[in-house]
Amino acid sequence: MASLITCSHCGPRPKEEFTVKGDAAIARPAADASEDAWYAYVYLRDNPRGRHKEYWHHTSGCRRWLVVERDTVTHAIYAVADAAAQGETA
Ligand SMILES: [Zn+2]
Repeated sequence: MASLITCSHCGPRPKEEFTVKGDAAIARPAADASEDAWYAYVYLRDNPRGRHKEYWHHTSGCRRWLVVERDTVTHAIYAVADAAAQGETA
């Protein structure tokens, strides 16, 4: 795991200040979507190999939600953006 995450508000910070909250590519279904769609949204996750976007919460810092694009094999970080700035909510 990368030892530093560059928070878009705080700058480079140790990874221990963050909490990983999962896949940032999952879209919330419509309120009237099927039970199967909601089951998949809540419970089913892929275990991707390679580049992947995840929600990270800067728990011990600014407490902002970030979208971190990282490689799940090498742990290289390619991009960090504020989730709200991307129109995403966690
Ligand atoms: Zn921060």
